[in-house]
Amino acid sequence: MLTKHKGIIKMKIGQKIKEIREEKDLKQVAVLDNQGQISQIEKGVKIKRPKEATLRIIAKKLDMSFEELIEGTDWSPRDKSKGQFVISPASYEFKIDDSGFISCLNSTFPKYNKNGDLTEFCPHTGEKLIANCTNCGREIEDSDYAYCIGCGTKLTDKWAIPENLNNLITPESLTDFGFCTENLDRLMAYSSDVVVWYNTLKECTSHEDWVNKINKGWVSRIGNSFRMPRIREGKFEIDKKHELNGMLFEIQLCSKVEKKLRKTLTHLTNTEETKTSSDKIYEGLFNTMQNLINENVTTMQNASFMIASFQGKDRDAYTETNRKLIETNEKSISKLADLLKSFDPDGDHSEIEQKLKSIKSEKISETQNSDEKISEDGNSETDAAENADRNNKNAENKKDKESKNE
Ligand SMILES: [Zn+2]
Repeated sequence: MLTKHKGIIKMKIGQKIKEIREEKDLKQVAVLDNQGQISQIEKGVKIKRPKEATLRIIAKKLDMSFEELIEGTDWSPRDKSKGQFVISPASYEFKIDDSGFISCLNSTFPKYNKNGDLTEFCPHTGEKLIANCTNCGREIEDSDYAYCIGCGTKLTDKWAIPENLNNLITPESLTDFGFCTENLDRLMAYSSDVVVWYNTLKECTSHEDWVNKINKGWVSRIGNSFRMPRIREGKFEIDKKHELNGMLFEIQLCSKVEKKLRKTLTHLTNTEETKTSSDKIYEGLFNTMQNLINENVTTMQNASFMIASFQGKDRDAYTETNRKLIETNEKSISKLADLLKSFDPDGDHSEIEQKLKSIKSEKISETQNSDEKISEDGNSETDAAENADRNNKNAENKKDKESKNE
């Protein structure tokens, strides 16, 4: 009936209860009014690790302390620690969802660590952790209990999320770069105000001290976004503790909101950059097409004026030059229109950029060629045929390339 534990031989808790009970000549129901339960505890098969509360009852009936009862046994708090929590009075866990809703709970910790040691102080604020309801003494059994399940008493001070901080997290500020930046600036100003007030009040030792610091302008230099803590005469210690806790809540909330806004900003910046680069390409395509259309319109308008001043062969050559220019432009315009239609903002733009370049250089070389040919010999018919032929070939090559790429 002995169990070896870390080199020390320990007695099973059930066995110890049974021995002491029999020594005192008590019946099982005399130490616990649940016959089945005490029987299971003593046998130590179905109930190997009785609850602390149960053991305390048994210890009392055996006329000994709880500590004396568990001494030298295999029972340890670690074994019953699951489902017991301690609440930090001033450390909070915030959650901000995608719509900007902020929820808040006090931080909780398991009552015992893995070594079975009691968790007594908050690792974030250094304050004594709350293990029991202040009203009925009931232990806290869940990590998100805000009220005692035994009597309904609030387990900790509850703070409302300040409206001005809630307003900084809006659907707009979570999707718009400008709103987000502006609200982050406001938040930083606000949170630095709170920190100054917090530190000022924390250092104060009396109501007089507090009034002096305000009057001496210790805190007058800071902005008006945060209300001044309310410290009543004669209630200094109570008000100081209350206000400090409230500010500690807001400081932690500010830090959470800041993280959310900064994360949003990073996300929006990345999106903006991608958008800009694809926008540029789209604009490039559109502007090139627009310029070609404008050029054609101008060419046709000018032609109607100029044509009257030319005669015979010159007139034919001039007309032909314009006709070719317009024709070349129209081909480019139709290619650009196709590119615009196929433009995918999230897609790979290198191919589209390549096509755009080739359309530009094609247009330039054709315009230059036709100018040269005309100035050299004015043989427009040959020119026109050659250009038409080359355009067809280019168009075919393009089609080949496109079909290969697909
Ligand atoms: Zn209670």
